[in-house]
Amino acid sequence: KLSAHGIAKSFDGREVLHGISFDVLRGEFLSILGPSGCGKSTILRILIGLEHPDAGCVLLDGKDITDAAPSKRHMGIVFQDYALFENMTVLGNVEYALRFDPTRRECRTKIALEALASLGMADYANKPVAGLSGGQMQRVSIARTLALSPEVILFDEPTSGLDADARLALRSQLKKIQRDHGTTMVFITHDQEEAFALADRVMVMGEGSIHQLDEPLRIVENPADGYVRDFVVSNL
Ligand code: ATP
Ligand code: MG
Repeated sequence: KLSAHGIAKSFDGREVLHGISFDVLRGEFLSILGPSGCGKSTILRILIGLEHPDAGCVLLDGKDITDAAPSKRHMGIVFQDYALFENMTVLGNVEYALRFDPTRRECRTKIALEALASLGMADYANKPVAGLSGGQMQRVSIARTLALSPEVILFDEPTSGLDADARLALRSQLKKIQRDHGTTMVFITHDQEEAFALADRVMVMGEGSIHQLDEPLRIVENPADGYVRDFVVSNL
């Protein structure tokens, strides 16, 4: 279980997270919805340790990881831009992510190919990244994260740059990864339909706070307040 407890964060004297708390269960798919600037990306960056909270703590399976380095948290993060080396091959990009893992050096090609296969990209292993479609690049980027066997993968709008077909393909692959690997997923999207379709639970944020965190159907049937009803339910 991944837990955030009383997380507060200010930038330049302005508080953007007002002490928020939530749990993500092991193997759960949690979607985060909220307007632009409400603090979604900041939460992910705090969970993985790219930002330090001003108050509160992050726990993974009961262990306080608030001060742990990002690489020691058993988490991976996938961004909207794929951040791949375009002049390397698909396989080379995934192997590169494994370069610091000494226990795996012997079999990193095998691990990389398995991760690519999970995203349906094994056939492209020896192709250069340049020339792939956006959806294919995002799948390589996710394979690169998956190859490190994280317990938790954080996604910051991974589908924003993709066309409708690529989004749908990615959806089913993410659900398959959740099923096959038991990976916990925390997923930010601006697409409300996508958030509800993918999630075991959805977290609806306002400015710096959580309005509701519940199963999709329960949010639709029983929105916590007028904000949730207006922001989410009436737009579905
Ligand atoms: P979007 O949907 O547009 O991606 P978001 O919900 O992810 O928005 P954040 O990126 O978490 O929002 O930003 C929340 C607020 O904190 C915004 O007002 C943003 O300008 C501010 N902010 C985030 N990071 C920094 C930073 N490093 N320095 C200063 N302000 C920041
Ligand atoms: Mg953001």
